[in-house]
Amino acid sequence: MKNIVKKLSWFIKKEWKTYIRLFFLLLLIIILSLIPAYFLGLAIDTIVSGDLTKKSLIFLVGGLALIPISRYFSSFIYNYRVSKLAQKLSFELREQYLRKLFSMDLSFYAKYDKGDLINRVTEDLDAITVAATSLFEGIVFNFGLITFALALMIATISFKLTIISVTIMPIGLTILNIIRHKKRKYIAKHRIIYAKMTDTILESVEGQKTIRAYGQEDEYLDIQKKSIIDDINSWFYIVKYENWFVPLFEVIYGVAYVLAFVFGVIFIINSQLTLGSLITFLSYLGMLYGPIIGMSTMFTQINNATISLDRFDEIMKEVPIVSDTNVSLPILSFNEIEFKNVTFKYPFDEKAVIRGINFKITKGQTIGIVGPTGAGKSTLIRQLLREFNVSDGNILVDGKDISTYKIDDIRNLVGYVPQAHTIFKKDVTANIKMGKPKASQDQLDKAVRIADFEKDLPFLDQGLETMVGESGSTLSGGQKQRLSIARALIKDPEILILDDSLSAVDAKTEDNIINELKRFRGDKTNIIVAHRFSAVRDANIILVLENGVITQRGTHDELLKEEGWYKEQYINQITMV
Ligand code: ADP
Repeated sequence: MKNIVKKLSWFIKKEWKTYIRLFFLLLLIIILSLIPAYFLGLAIDTIVSGDLTKKSLIFLVGGLALIPISRYFSSFIYNYRVSKLAQKLSFELREQYLRKLFSMDLSFYAKYDKGDLINRVTEDLDAITVAATSLFEGIVFNFGLITFALALMIATISFKLTIISVTIMPIGLTILNIIRHKKRKYIAKHRIIYAKMTDTILESVEGQKTIRAYGQEDEYLDIQKKSIIDDINSWFYIVKYENWFVPLFEVIYGVAYVLAFVFGVIFIINSQLTLGSLITFLSYLGMLYGPIIGMSTMFTQINNATISLDRFDEIMKEVPIVSDTNVSLPILSFNEIEFKNVTFKYPFDEKAVIRGINFKITKGQTIGIVGPTGAGKSTLIRQLLREFNVSDGNILVDGKDISTYKIDDIRNLVGYVPQAHTIFKKDVTANIKMGKPKASQDQLDKAVRIADFEKDLPFLDQGLETMVGESGSTLSGGQKQRLSIARALIKDPEILILDDSLSAVDAKTEDNIINELKRFRGDKTNIIVAHRFSAVRDANIILVLENGVITQRGTHDELLKEEGWYKEQYINQITMV
């Protein structure tokens, strides 16, 4: 618990006034909960002794009626305020978490599964929020009520009867909590299994089109069934311990009640106690049940929250490998980028994907990159996005290492169009304007024209205002590509990277796009990764990448004059057409 308080101390410090207010409200609720039993005892004793007058009857009935009403209103105010506090905490934690996710680089995303990251921001944060608010209530209310009730039982009724009936409870509870504590390790395991289940479901939902197209529904259902069964089994261990607890405690409680009743009657016979006091005593004893169970539920919540906080903290402590420093330089444009002996290996791989890469990009040039699938073309060109640090060598931008510049500035230089497009559930305009949210209508029209997306607009219900389905599900492959290209073009980037982005468009559309690029981006840099040679034919320089190394370089005409992959594939391609 110390851990939870320490880790959430920033929130408690910020909200200390609310916590104090809640504390006093709870105190009031405790007092209001205890008074009716006292009135009841008093009423019975007054009736038994024959002292009941009209005045005392009004006082007793009035007291018994007013107190529950006051308690109801206090509880209402308390619940409202505590829910607000919980919402505030969960909002702030989620905001911190999402900020963290946005600040992380791709090594982080290679390390954690999507389902796991989602669970940490949903299940785990819920457990933390519950702990931070209901834990407070649990401690103040349950502990307060137990203390007050015991104090009243001892001070106003009978010390002896209290000791006789209540001592059995802490002994029983301690034994039960030892059993229950074993559950903790299963909770941690369960979280991991649950995250795996979420991941499997996510994969099936995201890949449902492909799964159906390949008739893989049964296989995927089996995979999901297995992950759900694993989840149920792991949960079952936890429930098993939980199921032990309440019935066993009820037995202990029953014994305490019998003891109080038997000894209470003996004390009445010996004139050590009045009937009214015994009834008040039994009411107080009855009142202890909820708070005691509540206290042990609290321990479960503490366990859950501790595990969740550790999982939350694990993410919050991650630091991006690619990050700015205090002395990162701004950059708005460039004259030359040089790859010097660049080698790159993905974080969890053994082998480098690209090795000893040397080439220069001069502002205004168009560079073509070709080569077999899996050769490392994407990996090579994505180095300009600063997703990872290079493993060896340097990328120099105007003579300085790329890592000395502000990451956002470097990314702003680039308009990257990937092969797999990310289309959001917004209208077409909003999807394109993600490249430059403040773009004017002219800039939007120009980007749409250069990307040859204009011809698609008549086929969309409401043209640029057409809502696009999730992941672009209502668009064709070519439309998605053209929209993606328009998104990159709208920011008029210093460097436009088409990473195999023309593969889903026909030869004529490709021709249109390439011609428009030449017309409108003459002074800017274009890097075109392509399978079709027509897309790179006019490039100032074409690099051939094979198995992670540059094996050929030159213009289209130069490359056709030498023996190698380029000429071979070019001949293949034109003979196929
Ligand atoms: P190309 O663009 O030439 O088809 P890629 O650069 O996409 O080639 O891939 C080159 C190699 O790097 C492939 O073997 C691929 O499996 C691997 N690779 C690509 N992306 C990742 C990644 N994020 N993590 C690990 N390996 C990757």
